[in-house]
Amino acid sequence: MSDLVQLAQKNLFGLSRQQLTALMKDLGQPAYRAGQTIYAMWHEKSSKLADIKTLPTSLRESLAAAGWVIRRPKIVETFRSVDGTERYLVAGDDGQTVETVWMPDGDEAPGSQRATICVSSQVGCAVNCQFCLTAKLGLQRNLTAGEIAGQVIAVLERQKVEVGKDRINLVFMGMGEPFLNYDNFIAAVRLLVEEAGLAESRMTVSTSGIVPGILRLAEEPIRPRLAISLMRPTMRSAKPLCRSRANGR
Ligand code: SF4
Repeated sequence: MSDLVQLAQKNLFGLSRQQLTALMKDLGQPAYRAGQTIYAMWHEKSSKLADIKTLPTSLRESLAAAGWVIRRPKIVETFRSVDGTERYLVAGDDGQTVETVWMPDGDEAPGSQRATICVSSQVGCAVNCQFCLTAKLGLQRNLTAGEIAGQVIAVLERQKVEVGKDRINLVFMGMGEPFLNYDNFIAAVRLLVEEAGLAESRMTVSTSGIVPGILRLAEEPIRPRLAISLMRPTMRSAKPLCRSRANGR
């Protein structure tokens, strides 16, 4: 499991069903313990091991003794615009923040919501587009799959979204270049589709033109739509839609 653990503390939130099954197997547990853990984290919103009462106490203690925790990204600051757009600073596993944006469409039917969530994939960015404020940070680190998917979950919970009823689009156009953090980006997409119930057809990933990522995406069984930013990295004024909101402080 060591390659799954990218930060100092082991985080169950963000592991796939297959990864959790492997972990349970390592601990001598049946595969259905992974399903119980997934259900607790993604449907019952459990935020600590002690809350997962379907797991035996001895298993929860073993997981805790091995350093495993449940850590979800948290909204730590909110900036609201008059048009209803909300821009959030979301803290990840180590407290570093990225921006996530909620953009209501404004034409939702009574009793339902239509909105787009703009999601970050890295803390900072290495691409260095001249028009982008995120570029000034340089690349601080990649977000984990849990930190990418968890931004969406934090916003869905804040906005009391009913998945399946409300029409929510996701755009991976926030801080960072998703295809330079490909494995975590695509793992987050799978979690959002398989565990959160969001539709891949309502997701779009934007790249600055990272060709290996484009080729890998074409082979994925679960994949968002692709948008390619045609801005020149040396352009100083115009910005792609979401990045202008997500990165313009
Ligand atoms: S526009 Fe996107 S790819 Fe370019 S520096 Fe900003 S975050 Fe990175």
